[in-house]
Amino acid sequence: MYAEEVAEMAGRIRDEDIALVRERTSIAEVISDTVTLKSAGGGNLKGLCPFHDEKSPSFNVSPARNVWYCFGCGAGGDAIKFLMDAEHLSFVESVERLAARAGIQLRYVEDDRSTPRARPQQGQRQRLVAAHAAAVEFYRAQLTTAGARPAREFLAQRGFDRAAADRYGCGFAPDAWDLLTKHLRQQGFTHDELVTGGLSRPSRSGTLIDRFRRRLMWPIRDLTGDVIGFGARKLFADDDGPKYLNTPETPIYKKSHVLYGIDQAKREIAKQGKVVVVEGYTDVMACHLADVPTAVATCGTAFGSDHIGVLRRLLLDTDAVAGEIIFTFDGDAAGQKAALRAFEDDQRFVGRTFIAVSPDNMDPCELRLAKGDLAVRDLVARREPLVDFALRHMINRYDLDTVDGRVEAMRRAAPLVAKIKDREKRPEYVRKLAGDLGMEIEPVQRAVLAAGNGQPAGDAPASRRPAPATPAVDSPQSMVEREALKLALQEPVLAGPMFDAVEATEYRHPVHVAVRAAIAAAGGASAATGGAVWIEQVRDACEDLAASALVGELAVEPLRIDGEPDPRYVSITMARLQWGSVTARIKDLKSKVQRINPVSNKDEYFALFGELLSLEQHARALREQAAGGL
Ligand SMILES: [Zn+2]
Repeated sequence: MYAEEVAEMAGRIRDEDIALVRERTSIAEVISDTVTLKSAGGGNLKGLCPFHDEKSPSFNVSPARNVWYCFGCGAGGDAIKFLMDAEHLSFVESVERLAARAGIQLRYVEDDRSTPRARPQQGQRQRLVAAHAAAVEFYRAQLTTAGARPAREFLAQRGFDRAAADRYGCGFAPDAWDLLTKHLRQQGFTHDELVTGGLSRPSRSGTLIDRFRRRLMWPIRDLTGDVIGFGARKLFADDDGPKYLNTPETPIYKKSHVLYGIDQAKREIAKQGKVVVVEGYTDVMACHLADVPTAVATCGTAFGSDHIGVLRRLLLDTDAVAGEIIFTFDGDAAGQKAALRAFEDDQRFVGRTFIAVSPDNMDPCELRLAKGDLAVRDLVARREPLVDFALRHMINRYDLDTVDGRVEAMRRAAPLVAKIKDREKRPEYVRKLAGDLGMEIEPVQRAVLAAGNGQPAGDAPASRRPAPATPAVDSPQSMVEREALKLALQEPVLAGPMFDAVEATEYRHPVHVAVRAAIAAAGGASAATGGAVWIEQVRDACEDLAASALVGELAVEPLRIDGEPDPRYVSITMARLQWGSVTARIKDLKSKVQRINPVSNKDEYFALFGELLSLEQHARALREQAAGGL
């Protein structure tokens, strides 16, 4: 199919131009627009395959050979083929897209078997994208007209100045029937193109009219930054349409995939390993301007599995590396329902899902207006795991002052706990639930076991499979342990002394403990000079296969920092590593101090109290170190 299409279509673009496009195209860059790639060793890259659902990356790219191949589903090809498959473009459209990207002017061969065309045959996608680009300019120019005053006021009242409006390409659809349609027709776009692209629609009398009128317009872009549709906000009281109108489904606009702001947010999403999902265009703008650059929003539809797919590939969300997805809700019932539904839907995704409910039922845009940028950053920072959120809302519906209320709340909440996929976490949630209900642990545990179809938590079906080499990184602690080990393996000269100075007891995950022990057994990171020899020494020192496999993985996994690591980054990482145990020890000591009678056990009380003070001092120092001071 591909070869045939090449043969048929290649006649239209000159062969040497196609060759030039292939030569000048960085396949890694093209694929990185939609798939986050990491090193696979030997100069190759890998990521999650966009063509089949997978949990660990089998999608490989060889920049040296200019090809990609998926070991999972067998798809593969060059950069042109990638665009054809990933974006559903034709061969010509893909070549045109890559040529534009590389700044190559394509020349088309005269097709002497048919009548000459007024302009070279372009692919449909490129035509529709060009029409949208022209529409953006048209709407933007309209925003400065007298009639657009309500649109400018709308933006100003929400704290968006001219620069912000420009950055997001905001515009105004004028109070006219066919101003845009005529404008685009004059630029050579056909009747069919404007209807297919969703920019115009036929009126009852059959003439073509603008789809959007008297509205504030937001261009909606795809991952690569092409405008593929619009979101339009009602401005006038006598406009009887819905508050928001969006582009209908078109060949280039699929609302189940579209995320507003993704073009501006994608690099930060990949870099930070997290994404903030908000509810509207103004919320995305407010978050970005408040320095939460990872915010995106769905456009006129609920967040769904296709959106998860888009984000997972950016987050490189595998079993080994967990991306964080943070939903903000203004605390209303709809938002809560959506969160609980997410809990039902996708268990794998649940462990990495967080909820941030804004105070006083304000959305991020309102919050920024009322309380400033810092309040928006705080909102995201104060996120809570979806499981905690769901449990709290479940039991809040019952009157916990009565026995009946407590028992009913327990019955309803137990299935949620039984559903938690990470079995190690279940006992913790059983304890928490018991505490929240004010009940003993045993009945709650029995209810959870019963809800899980009688399967005791210890009897894990998972234990029939061999333990994965890579622990699931679903806690900040695991993540930072992993990062510390990566530093010791990849940058021993830089990180060695600080790494070795931190006690092995700071590591929690058993496989991480094993790797930490192997590094010590291999002579410690301070003494190492790095390179393949060092990695082999550590691998040889590993007591078990899982640890040895993890060493191989950590030796090549990119650090979670842009650019080269420096002493500051090492210092921050090691401080975060120790944070968990220091705070746990403080909590422990505090409860001990509280149980001691300071009068009868004066000496013990002061000893513990002194210990507590010095630990808190240590914690403060660590907090400063983690914040970036050396
Ligand atoms: Zn695949």
